[in-house]
Formats: sequence, C-alpha cells, structure tokens
Amino acid sequence: MEWTPIKKTLHDGGVQPHLRDYAKARASFSWEEIRDELDGLPGGRGLNIAYEAVDRHAAGPRGDHVALRWLGQEGDVLEFSYRALRKQSDRFANVLRALDVGEGETVFSFLGRVPYLYIAALGTLKNVSVFCPLFSAFGPEPVYQRLSRGDAAVVVTTERLYEKRIAGLRERLPHLRHVLLTDVQDDRADGVWSLPKRMREASASFTLPATDPEDLALLHFTSGTTGMPKGALHVHEAIVMHYMTGKYALDLHPDDVFWCTADPGWVTGTSYGIIAPFVHGVTNVVDEADFDAERWYHILEEQQVTVWYTAPTAIRMLMRVGGTPREGYDLSALRLVCSVGEPLNPEAVMWGQEALGLPIHDNWWQTETGGIMIANLPALDIRPGSMGRPLPGVDAAVVKRTDDQVEEMPPGEEGELALRIGWPSMFRGYLHEKKRYEDCFVGDWYLTGDLAREDADGYFWFVGRADDIIKTSGHMVSPFEVESALMEHDAVAEAGVIGKPDPVSGERVKAFVALNTSYTPSDELRLDLLGFARTKLGAAVAPKEIDFKDSLPKTKSGKIMRRLLKARELGLPEGDLSTLETASG
Ligand code: ATP
Ligand code: MG
Repeated sequence: MEWTPIKKTLHDGGVQPHLRDYAKARASFSWEEIRDELDGLPGGRGLNIAYEAVDRHAAGPRGDHVALRWLGQEGDVLEFSYRALRKQSDRFANVLRALDVGEGETVFSFLGRVPYLYIAALGTLKNVSVFCPLFSAFGPEPVYQRLSRGDAAVVVTTERLYEKRIAGLRERLPHLRHVLLTDVQDDRADGVWSLPKRMREASASFTLPATDPEDLALLHFTSGTTGMPKGALHVHEAIVMHYMTGKYALDLHPDDVFWCTADPGWVTGTSYGIIAPFVHGVTNVVDEADFDAERWYHILEEQQVTVWYTAPTAIRMLMRVGGTPREGYDLSALRLVCSVGEPLNPEAVMWGQEALGLPIHDNWWQTETGGIMIANLPALDIRPGSMGRPLPGVDAAVVKRTDDQVEEMPPGEEGELALRIGWPSMFRGYLHEKKRYEDCFVGDWYLTGDLAREDADGYFWFVGRADDIIKTSGHMVSPFEVESALMEHDAVAEAGVIGKPDPVSGERVKAFVALNTSYTPSDELRLDLLGFARTKLGAAVAPKEIDFKDSLPKTKSGKIMRRLLKARELGLPEGDLSTLETASG
C-alpha cells in the first residue's frame, strides 16, 4: 500500500520549530557554531556533560526552573530545580572523591528510575568517572558480565538488589571497591556504604576538574538484539550532539515539558532521558512505573507533556489496547511525538495522527552513534514508514562494502547504511574489542550493520538488519516489510518474521504474530492472514507459514528478537539471553 505523505505546515503563532528550512540548515551548519551555544567549563578548562546539562542553568535565571519531575510508582511526586540538581550532583561527586574514585573509573547504577539514578549519573560525569546504567531487571549473570567487563569500581544500588544480585559475586569482581546503597541509613561492612549518609556528610559544592572533550564519559551496552551485547564507549564531546539533536530533532524550547519513556539502561534513556532535556534547560518528566496505557495517557494529560519520545513497542501496546485516548484525555499540550528503536510501521504513524492528534516522527540511531542521526524532523513532511532525513551535520549514505572501500548506491537501491565519521557522539570504541571496532570503519565511513535505501528526495527507508535479511528463491526479503504488511491486518498487534532453511527456496518466510485482544487464534484466521499477506506482498515475499503467539520475545528495550524466534523454531542454541525482557532474576 502506498502511504500518502503527511504534509507539515508552519503556522504563525504557537511554537515555531527551530529547524524550518532543511536545505539551508544543512548548508550553513557548523559544529563549531553549535559548540558555541554551549558554555564550556569556566576558565576554558574543557567540556563536561554535567556542567552543560545542569550547572550552567543552575547559575543563571533558570536556576529555579523544575529540571526533574519524578513520578513515583505509588503516586508520590518529587521535583528538583536546576539549582537543587546541581547541589545533589555536586554532593554525589564529592562522595566519589571521598571514596578515592578517580577519573576514568567506572561507576555503575543498578537502580529503577529513581532520583538517585539521575543524581549519580550527573555526579559521576562531574568527577570525570565513567557512568554505566544497568536495567534493574537484570539477573545476577547479566549483572556480573557487565560489571566485570566494565571493570566496575562502584555500584549504586538498593539493599535488596545488592543482596539478591551482587553480594554473591563480590569475590569474582576484584575491581569493585565500593557499593553505595540508596536505601540504608548506616554504613554496613567494609565497602558497602549508605549513600544517604554519605550525601548528607558531603559538601554541596564541587569544583569540576578540567575535562578534555575526549575524556570517557559513558559506557553503554547495546540491546543484544542480534547477539552478545557490545559495550560502546562515549566521551564528553557527545554533549554537542545531544544538544544539537535536542534542538533540531526533538525541537526542545525552554518551556517544554519533555517525557522520554526509555529506561537509562538503554542508551535512549540516557542520551534523551537525562542529558538532552537538561542541556536544554527544560522540565524532564521521569516515571518510575512500567508501561500502563491508562497511566501513560494520564501522565501526558496531567503533566501537560509537550514533547514525547517513545518507542515502537510502546506504541504497538497502546494500539493493542485500542480506544480513542483523545476523547478520554486532554492531550492538547502535546506538540511533537517521536519514536526510536525499531522500524515504525506506517500504520503506527497514522495511528498517532488519529489517536493522539499528531503523527509519530520516527528517528533512527544506535548505541554506537550516541545520538539521533536520521529523523522525521518536525517541520518536514512525514513519509510514513521512512526514518526521515539525516540531521544537519550528519552525512548518511547507502553503500556497498568491498574489502577496503565503499561504493555509494544510487537512489532507490538497497545497501548498508553508512555515516561519515566526525559527529561528536560517535562511540570511541567497543569495550575490550578493538578489532570489532576497527571493522566498523572503511575509509571515512562508519558502517552501521543496517540495510536501507534512500529515495530520490533524500528520505531514508529501513530495510532490515544485515543479519536478519531473508534470501528466498533469489529474492532478498526484509522481515520489516513483511511484518509491516501483517500489521495492517486488524487482527495483528505485532509480528516477527524469520527465514527457515528450505531445500527448494533457500529460505522459507515464516511469521509469528501476536493478536489484538479481541481476536483468538484459529486456522481460519491463519488462512485469512496468509491470503492478506499474499495480496499485499505477492507470493514470492509473503510468509508461507504463520504461528500465533501470545507475545513475541523482546529485549528489555522493546525490540523483537528475531534471532530467538529463529533459534527456537530450529532447535538451535538460544545464545545470550541477558537482555531478554522476561529474563529477570
Ligand atoms: P545489538 O547491537 O546488541 O544487536 P541493537 O542493535 O538492537 O542490539 P541498539 O543500539 O539499542 O542495539 O539499537 C540500534 C538498532 O535498532 C539500529 O541499528 C537499528 O537496527 C534499530 N533501529 C533503531 N531505530 C530504528 C528505526 N527508527 N527504524 C528501524 N530500525 C531502528
Ligand atoms: Mg546493534
């Protein structure tokens, strides 16, 4: 089905998007000019993410503006102004200093979305130590893997999580010197301290050390969608990208109330759940609770959220619940809704238009890129199903890779998505995997491992992950294309498509689908879906088999794990399951 582009018109009055003329913004773009919109450390002592995100606002007229509005699971609300956040993060940095935790040492958080997570992140960055947030649902083995690979010097966690998941690992973690518990009032045995007590005793004023923009700042593990998660290393310079994309892709303005639904355990929840909103001085809403459709609509209404950043998995869940939220809730404050993490089906873009009153703006990036690279920018027409266009300052291309060079493909042709090196938040290495890092680069290009095509107007379209592409009877089939077609059927809530080895066709296209709540699996429905897909896709591409599932295996960041569907179907080893959504210990 051809989807009609959604025309964007610029109105007078209201909030004007920062980026109104794409061609001009690209042509005149310079990283130096963006960098000049930041302050830099006083006295020309470098660039530090936490200083730009918090301290510079705290010292100015925005000092009393609400920086963080935390919504507790049980209904309690806590607010921190920029000034309060500065003090708290200064205290945390002093706690680290008192424990002799130095620059470049790794501080992990293993917490739910609680204020201490945000304070620890900022305080760690101030101390020029490296921050690594972990999902609190990780079991002991995934925790061990990450703490050990990341040479954790400090872990900030709760007493319960410590006892259940970490205490038994201490002997195997020789680098781990300090555990800071957020919910005990007194220090325990050696090396297990009360964070509240240490915070009380610490000074609320910390002088940031000189910070080289190339100093390591963040360690982020990838989602593990295609295999063992990789640890991507990021530096303080990344703040330039967080700022630029917060401005142009998320269109943040000073009075915005911003809500990013991602957990900081996934790169989106840090780059855009912590850093980008703060560097723009807006109010950042954080919800401690997990997904719940009613709760989410209620938050959008009550908090008067203006810019909302979420993910396809959440949108699919909202679609599955159904209803017309605009009738039950006042969503009129919303100005922009964005999504990242997986392909966003055209169906979902249009659902936004109807259900929320706004189309959903898909954007593309990866843990490795540190920030949004390609986006349906607020002022540009949306082509439903497309990832959008490269941000100013970002050069993207579709290429064919040969040994030591890349060849750019003409418009319309599929190839690997590549990015010209030189954007500030590019990862500076994979943890302990030098060769793997080097293999990502050919000449001036970083190769993303994703396949895409670019149309004649410069919009990029996701085709699939290089590892997931199905080869059947001489055709290259994108699982996304098949999933997207199935999603257009009223019965289908989500779909995952794999290739099964087949002696005749090479690979046979097989789909797994989860149904919307008002449908039940039956042979009749299966036949209907097979026929529906064949009409939409043609016999060569349409699935030959369909299985019904209650839900599909997903990563904790909400991505469908096709490799697991495949391994289970073929009875093969399941590989690393540390990031599987249900794998909590
Ligand atoms: P791993 O690298 O461990 O297999 P992962 O690639 O899922 O996991 P992330 O860095 O969290 O880890 O995800 C980035 C990937 O997610 C991209 O490379 C791409 O495959 C997919 N992705 C992100 N945004 C989009 C989007 N808008 N459209 C299509 N795919 C997307
Ligand atoms: Mg990846």
